[in-house]
Amino acid sequence: MHYPHPGDYIDIHNHDSTPARDVFIIDNLMAHEGRLPDLESGMNYSMGIHPWFLDDTNQNILMEFVRNNATGEAITAIGEAGFDKLKGPSIDLQRLIFEQQAVLSEELGKPLVIHCVKAWDELVASHKRIKPDMPWLVHGFRGKKELAMQLISRNMYISFWFDFVIRPEATKLIRSLPVDRIFLETDGSGADIKEIYKKVSGDIGITVEELKNQILVNYSNIFIIKSLNTE
Ligand SMILES: [Zn+2]
Repeated sequence: MHYPHPGDYIDIHNHDSTPARDVFIIDNLMAHEGRLPDLESGMNYSMGIHPWFLDDTNQNILMEFVRNNATGEAITAIGEAGFDKLKGPSIDLQRLIFEQQAVLSEELGKPLVIHCVKAWDELVASHKRIKPDMPWLVHGFRGKKELAMQLISRNMYISFWFDFVIRPEATKLIRSLPVDRIFLETDGSGADIKEIYKKVSGDIGITVEELKNQILVNYSNIFIIKSLNTE
């Protein structure tokens, strides 16, 4: 496992990324791509089955791939996994594979990264059923405060959608959430993580350095301390 250094910009969810100076990345590996971590990259990885790429014919193959390859230390989280009502197979199949990944996250002591579009009731219902010890990190969040607080009250963390978080209308939401529950990401968009930190620190009314320190603390809480506790 690699660790972020103090002063790094943590980009909690990215795809196909290349290592960058002063940026600590969690690169997301999707099982249907069959990609494995590059152990020389200095990056950490999440690995899972994205609901868009799931169907009746590949569910077992993809789950097998994740089970076989997510045990290594370079894989710090399971996911992105989740629910999408706009794209992908039936919600029943999505739920089945999501919950298998949630159980694997518990078995391996690795947090779960969540993709969720218009399926919050399903997500919360799965959380109630599984009662995970591992924190769940909802990436790409662009919802309302009430929803964010509902998720946070269930021990989840929120990473904002890169394109939403830089808009003026996101400021109110950012200010209203506990800063020890948030993360920032580029999601493979090519967005500049440094610009995102600048905007969000301004919204909260702290310096970029203070925000980096806070996100480092959040990172430690979710990825280091929690996983050590379960070993
Ligand atoms: Zn993603």
